[in-house]
Amino acid sequence: MTERLITSFRSAYSREPEFIARAPGRIEVIGNHTDYNGGTVLGAAINRGTWVALARRGDGIRRFASEMRPGVVELRAEDAERRTGSQSWVNYPLGVLVAMKSSGIAIPAGFDYMAASNVPAGAGLSSSAAIELSSALVFLQAAGASLTREALVTLGRKAENEFVGVPCGILDQGVSCFGRVNHLVYIDCRVPRFETVPLPASAHFWIFNTHTKHALIDGLYAARHQECLDAAKIIGVPFLVDATPAMLAAAETRLSRTAYKRAHHVIDEIARVEQTVAALRAGDLAAVGKLLYTSHRSSRTWFENSSAELDFLVDCLEVEKGVYGARLTGGGFGGAVVALTSDAFGQEGAARVAESYLSRFGSRPEVIHALTDDGAALVTAGRSAG
Ligand code: ADP
Ligand code: MG
Repeated sequence: MTERLITSFRSAYSREPEFIARAPGRIEVIGNHTDYNGGTVLGAAINRGTWVALARRGDGIRRFASEMRPGVVELRAEDAERRTGSQSWVNYPLGVLVAMKSSGIAIPAGFDYMAASNVPAGAGLSSSAAIELSSALVFLQAAGASLTREALVTLGRKAENEFVGVPCGILDQGVSCFGRVNHLVYIDCRVPRFETVPLPASAHFWIFNTHTKHALIDGLYAARHQECLDAAKIIGVPFLVDATPAMLAAAETRLSRTAYKRAHHVIDEIARVEQTVAALRAGDLAAVGKLLYTSHRSSRTWFENSSAELDFLVDCLEVEKGVYGARLTGGGFGGAVVALTSDAFGQEGAARVAESYLSRFGSRPEVIHALTDDGAALVTAGRSAG
C-alpha cells in the first residue's frame, strides 16, 4: 500500500512525499454501549488501514487528495471553514489541524497531502479514526511536534466530535492508536486508560456488514444514552458502571421497565468485558465466544438495538464449524455482525452465511476477513522535500 500511495502522490503533485503514516481500522469485540456509561470495552485494530503521505510547501497552500475521492482540494492555510458536499471528506484532516491549533500544538502551514485506504468507509470499521490518526501523525512530524498516544487519541476524537460533528466514543481512536498485533485493546472509558490483552494468533475475525441502517438511528442512540443516564440517576450512581446487579434489583420498582432493561444490559455487559479479559488471559477462545453470543442476546433482549438481519447472521454463524462466537458490533439498529473464529472457518463458511442471508433478505452482506494489527505509526520519516 505504501508504494501505491507514493505513486498516487507523485502523479498528483509531481514530487516525493516527506512523511508517511498509517493507522488501522478497528472492530468493537465486546462492550456494547458501555463507553458513555463509564464502562470498559474491548476492540481489535485490524490489518486494514489508511495511509497518508505529506510533503511541506513553503507558500502556505494546503492541497488535499484521497484515492477515495476525485480531484484535489486546495485551501489556504487560513481557511479553516468546514467543507461541504464533495469536499466534506477534507473535514477529517482539516478537523485534526483545527484541533491541533486550538490545543496549542504546532501545525504545518502549507503542504501536499494524499490518503490511500483499504478500510471500507461507512462499514463500521472506523475509517474515520484511521484517517484522523494517520493525518495527525504526518502533521505532527511535519511541524516537528510529538504527542503521547493518549493525547493522539484525544486529538482525533476532538476533530471528529467538534469539527466533523460526529459524537463518536473513545473506542474508535483508542483502538486505532493502541492496537497491537495478536492483542485486543482494553479501554476503561471513564479514565480513560488503555491496555492490551493477548489474543492467540490462531484467532480470526469475520465481519458481515448488512449495510442496513434504521431510519431513526440518531434519535435511537440519543434515546438509549438518555435512558442509561436516567437509570443511573434513579439507582443513585453517577454512571451505570458504578451500579451492581444487586443495586439494580433493589431499584427495580422505581425504574421504568425501559430504564431497567437498558441498565440490565449495560451492567451485565461491563461484567462480560471483564470476563472476556479473564478468558483471554486463560487462552480460552471457546469461553470468549460464549460471551460474544451472550452479549448479542443481551443487546437483542435488554438493550433492544439488534435487528432481524443481525439476529439472522448470528444464528447462521452459530451453526458453522470454527465459529467461537458472534454478536452485533457497533451501535446496532442495523450495521454489522462480528464473528470470532478459528481457521476452521474460512471463505466457504463465510459464503454459506452470505448465501443464506441473500436468500432471506435479497441482498448480499459485505464480508471482511480481518486479523489483528498494530496501531497508528509513522511508516517513513525524514526524506528530503524533493
Ligand atoms: P466509518 O468510520 O465507520 O468508516 P464514518 O461515517 O465515521 O464511517 O466515516 C466515513 C467517512 O470518513 C467517509 O465518508 C469520508 O468522508 C471519510 N474518510 C474515511 N477514510 C477516507 C479516505 N481514505 N479518504 C477520504 N475520506 C475518507
Ligand atoms: Mg467513523
